[in-house]
Amino acid sequence: MTTRLDRAVGAVLGSAVGDALGAPYEFGPAGELDARGSEMRGGGGWDPGEATDDTQMAVLVGESLLDHGGLELPDVFDRFRRWAAAGPKDIGLQTEQVLTSGDPWDLAAALHFQVNARAAGNGSLMRASTSAVFFAAAGQQATMDAARRLAALTHGDPAAWEGTALLHELVRAALDGADPLERLPQALSAVAPEQRERYDRVLAPDWHPGLATEFNGAVWPCLGSAVWALRTTAGFPEAVRAAVNLGGDTDTVAAVTGALAGARYGREAIPPEWTAPLHVPLPGFGDRVLDARSLHDLATRLAGAA
Ligand SMILES: [Mg+2]
Repeated sequence: MTTRLDRAVGAVLGSAVGDALGAPYEFGPAGELDARGSEMRGGGGWDPGEATDDTQMAVLVGESLLDHGGLELPDVFDRFRRWAAAGPKDIGLQTEQVLTSGDPWDLAAALHFQVNARAAGNGSLMRASTSAVFFAAAGQQATMDAARRLAALTHGDPAAWEGTALLHELVRAALDGADPLERLPQALSAVAPEQRERYDRVLAPDWHPGLATEFNGAVWPCLGSAVWALRTTAGFPEAVRAAVNLGGDTDTVAAVTGALAGARYGREAIPPEWTAPLHVPLPGFGDRVLDARSLHDLATRLAGAA
């Protein structure tokens, strides 16, 4: 029997293994994971099992939430900035611009959005696993509100806020033992009305990644693809493999899929051969490198903290 704690650990660990599994294929064509015929072997500058910025930022969020017993946005932003300044191997273009702008935490993303007009990347979606676990017990509204505020630290576009809020809510549903796909209509009804139509479209039962109108580095097709991967498969590894095999922003689509599928199926569903080599360097924070055991502990503390 899968417990709530198993599902919380599954969300955090699942997102991290998805990130690491997808990392070598980032910006590549579809089907590369299947074509290679072996998994977690690294490549493209990544060691086997090495997690990227998605998981690194998720860890920073989770540790801030625990250290402060809740949402302390300036502290999260400071941790992001310290990490960005240390030169992580990978960092989203927009996230980097916002974090290195020198602007204050409550203005940096908004100013960037004002100048660039488009900021609906998947960079706030990718780091959602830890905060989704932390806030789940506080209910739907508190979860979605916290998600929006965390997203807004780096993304000024409300589309990114709403997508991140949706993902948090779907993870929350899964932790409750519900099927997140069945909770989709309810979650969508809590999305800001002016953002709802595009999410209705990419989360509809008949949507598939072939219908995407943007690269999957954008928030809508990224979330849509993760939900599609969950919907069209019957287990954790199958869902995450499907996400990586889409090509494009493989680490992030798989990190989002892994958070959902890990919450849905629980930590036991995650292949041990994927967690064994898993490691998360934390640039800017000494020589710290988290392994699967430390992510498990982090998730456990997040699940019990709220
Ligand atoms: Mg990444």
